[in-house]
Amino acid sequence: MNEKVRTLIIGSGPAGYTAAIYAARANLSPVLYEGMQPGGQLTTTTEVENFPGYPEGITGPEMMEELKKQAERFGTDIRFGRATATDLSEAPYKVTIDDNKTIEAETIIIATGATAKYLGLPDETKYSGMGVSACATCDGFFYRNMTVAVVGGGDSACEEATYLSGLASKVYMIVRKPYLRASKIMQDRVFNNPKIEVLFEHETLGLTGENVVQGVNLVKRRGQADEENVHLPIDGFFLAIGFTPNSEIFKPWVETDETGFIKTIPGTPKTNVPGVFAAGDVADSHYRQAITAAGTGAQAALEAERYLQK
Ligand code: NDP
Repeated sequence: MNEKVRTLIIGSGPAGYTAAIYAARANLSPVLYEGMQPGGQLTTTTEVENFPGYPEGITGPEMMEELKKQAERFGTDIRFGRATATDLSEAPYKVTIDDNKTIEAETIIIATGATAKYLGLPDETKYSGMGVSACATCDGFFYRNMTVAVVGGGDSACEEATYLSGLASKVYMIVRKPYLRASKIMQDRVFNNPKIEVLFEHETLGLTGENVVQGVNLVKRRGQADEENVHLPIDGFFLAIGFTPNSEIFKPWVETDETGFIKTIPGTPKTNVPGVFAAGDVADSHYRQAITAAGTGAQAALEAERYLQK
């Protein structure tokens, strides 16, 4: 038999846990499924220094443990398990967990986050947290007066490179094409920045270094007559080749944009499905911060409460 719940929260990053804290305190009896990566993307970050309330900083995993405890304190039912399918055609909405159990929920808060894209090189895993990052705002601070490289040629890469140029002494942009895909204004910012050097037609082969990243091996104009191998000494390697929002299982019902981010009514966490709300990175291609995710998590729980009152 299907289990019936009032409020189902899918995801355990800052958005999911904050939604849980608010929902539990409002007696909405939330059940939260943690998903594939309990604690979300922050569990792969070392130090979090920009979340208010931690003047000395806190590690990502510790912060997520604290959020979890706070959600549990007010009675959130936190469970292992991943949502694998949904039927949101009518309320109560059905969500399949781990392909074998169905939950019927009166209201749902989707907080499944997004996953940064990586190049797929073994070295990215080898040096994970040791010089490889997919978040300049999170980790840029550790590269003050050092040399870093940013991979990508879109708006994200230009934004990350510009941000990093305020901290690092030198920023390389590794771009596979002979041009940037980014908007004109972002390109201008990059080209007018003396600290940023754009390396067009370069692809990454691998990283070097003892324990931590100390260099990157590139190939210039791969496959051309003048193909050339290039080695650059760097201290940090930042990926900015896009994010994949974890929205696939909701797509038949919930509207998304062309890259898969869930569309919400601006300024609210409301999706096109009444009683189904989206919070955090799955609905945010722009800010992608723990604090903004937490904020939308709170909004989602407040909207869920209003929806249930009706
Ligand atoms: P994009 O898809 O726009 O750009 C991705 C970049 O990464 C491209 O240059 C692409 O190269 C490159 N890339 C992808 N895969 C690889 C790979 N395997 N190896 C090397 N390079 C690769 O993603 P963004 O995250 O930059 O932007 C996503 C959306 O968000 C866009 O609509 C953007 O406008 C928006 N955005 C807006 C911002 C703003 O306005 N301030 C800030 C950030 C994002 P190629 O061009 O060769 O395909």
